[in-house]
Amino acid sequence: MTVSRFAPHRTTALMLAALLACGVFTGARADGGEDTLGVQSSVVLPEQAKGKPPTWAGKAFRQGVVSVANPYGAEAGARMLEQGGNAIDAAVAIAYALNVVEPQSAGIGGGGFMLVYIARTGQTFSIDTREKATAAATRDMFAGVPQASRKGVAVGVPGMVRGTAKVLGEHGRLTLAQVMQPAIELADQGFAATPRYSSVSCTDRALNSPESEAFFCPGGMPAAPGALVQNKALAETFRLIAKNGPDCFYKDMPEKGCDIARGIVEGQQRSTIIVNGVEQANKPGTMTLADLEAYQPVERAAVEGSYRGYKIKAMAPPSSGALTVIQILNMLERFPLGDAGAGYGFGSVKTLNVMAEAMRVAFADRADWMADNDFVHVPGKGLLDATYVSGRSALITPGVRMTPDPLPGDPRVFETAGLEPARALALSAPVTGPDNGTTHFSVVDQWGNVVSYTNTIESSHGIGTFAGYTRADGSFRNLGFLLNNELTDFNTTPSLNRVTGEVGYNDVQPGKRPRSSMTPTMLFTPDGKPFLAYGSPGGATIINSVVNVTINLIDHHMALQQAIDAGRISVASAGSTVTVENRFPAATVDALRALGYTAFIGDVGSVQAVLIDQHTGKQYGAADDRREGTVIGLPRRR
Ligand code: GLU
Repeated sequence: MTVSRFAPHRTTALMLAALLACGVFTGARADGGEDTLGVQSSVVLPEQAKGKPPTWAGKAFRQGVVSVANPYGAEAGARMLEQGGNAIDAAVAIAYALNVVEPQSAGIGGGGFMLVYIARTGQTFSIDTREKATAAATRDMFAGVPQASRKGVAVGVPGMVRGTAKVLGEHGRLTLAQVMQPAIELADQGFAATPRYSSVSCTDRALNSPESEAFFCPGGMPAAPGALVQNKALAETFRLIAKNGPDCFYKDMPEKGCDIARGIVEGQQRSTIIVNGVEQANKPGTMTLADLEAYQPVERAAVEGSYRGYKIKAMAPPSSGALTVIQILNMLERFPLGDAGAGYGFGSVKTLNVMAEAMRVAFADRADWMADNDFVHVPGKGLLDATYVSGRSALITPGVRMTPDPLPGDPRVFETAGLEPARALALSAPVTGPDNGTTHFSVVDQWGNVVSYTNTIESSHGIGTFAGYTRADGSFRNLGFLLNNELTDFNTTPSLNRVTGEVGYNDVQPGKRPRSSMTPTMLFTPDGKPFLAYGSPGGATIINSVVNVTINLIDHHMALQQAIDAGRISVASAGSTVTVENRFPAATVDALRALGYTAFIGDVGSVQAVLIDQHTGKQYGAADDRREGTVIGLPRRR
């Protein structure tokens, strides 16, 4: 990898209309009825004037497109497609490459969800590589632990290595060694630090251990943009996996040189961590070699729904993503969001208000009903039942901020008749929020296979500690990848379901996966062909990024890049704190405050998407300038 391959961070841009020409987002209703919605907004966003369109906006390709939050990750995926690999090969290559170039976001120390469409069979499924609680985990393991999300107790059993090997073995065309090659080169030969890599490398969690501080922020300075970054330790770890297969990650096999499992177990057990320069005792994790050996990824069906005639498939529990996204969209279906003449339209306070209210109502349900369905019964049918959702939507009055905050409903009667009436009890609030963790990318290949993949180590830099162990001679054997803090996605305080009074659905249980918000999503034409794959990082705001982009496309008739560039809003709880991007005018923020919302200005998500026009076979990509989104379409135009 040479410095010249670095594509510079592009500026903000809106690309108008080009993708509309492909005919996908014409706004025609799938039922053939007359379209009265979707009036193109006349709002000119502040960034729109400043930016130039990214080079890929509106360009059509036929031999595959990758859209990734980092230019090197995109390059790794494109290389696989050019070598005859399919979307699955490219996706696995991207996931490994991002571990090197976006180490703060995702990697082999963590897990995620890969949503896959196989063109030959028409099958859509997901691979759940979400981390699991250890066998010795307990419901109260976070009690009295300050800074728990930086400590070993937060580390879940990682899933990426076995999950990606499984899908690669079943659906890929290339070998594990082939798809890992770009990542090995990036780690071994180095890459030029991107502006974002540089800007996040001295954030506090990166300084959580002496080794991570020395790597990310030596002498208090991050690698300057353009400076060479090498991670030889990670290259060596990757070579071990490429040579010996995923078991080399999950089993201690010193005879084969496989000491990665030992490094994970001992990495979460280290005795101290450093917070703001002060050393304090770790609360060690309880992960054992047996936990690692037992880890298995799970293939799951997607949750399906629809919005204004478009079919949606997205990630099922343990993610709350699909259920919450589809609930929000279905609650909003009765409002003509695209109709500027009725006071709606993109960016109008009327539109943003009903969106925020739908988010609040859905997040009230999410808090109590959504968790790992392998351990608790998530009433998914009830939560998406049309009668239930219309009752929930009836709580929303345009122009009004609901008070008090909405409570969860009781979807059980729409799932199974004859259950006990509801009881209301207390529940602790979720603890995690958006930061620099997590990454989303999307891929389509020349055969029409599609992948939408969100991957994470949870917070930026996870627990801020590399996997590794102290050798007999006292030196540290650094394995070069960060350990996740995914288990703080559980209720960190034991809680009760406010409706049933049962133990909180998202409380810790041994072997359980913490509830996620990651929402790799695909939209389908009415005849079942995928035309869009997308998703985002951002903790619970992921759900709202997906909702915003979906509405921008379907209601506001935006082109794909425009739909991603446009300002987003997010409410990620039943409360009335709304994050509003500064891409909206200040007057819009003021108007939301006048309705009683507490409005914060901040970025929401980082959406990477690919689009397939099923009429023409042309493929398009769009990526997010909120991070370093990069699209490469094939064949390349040199
Ligand atoms: N761990 C989070 C989740 O699974 C993702 C974190 C993030 O996107 O920042 O929902």
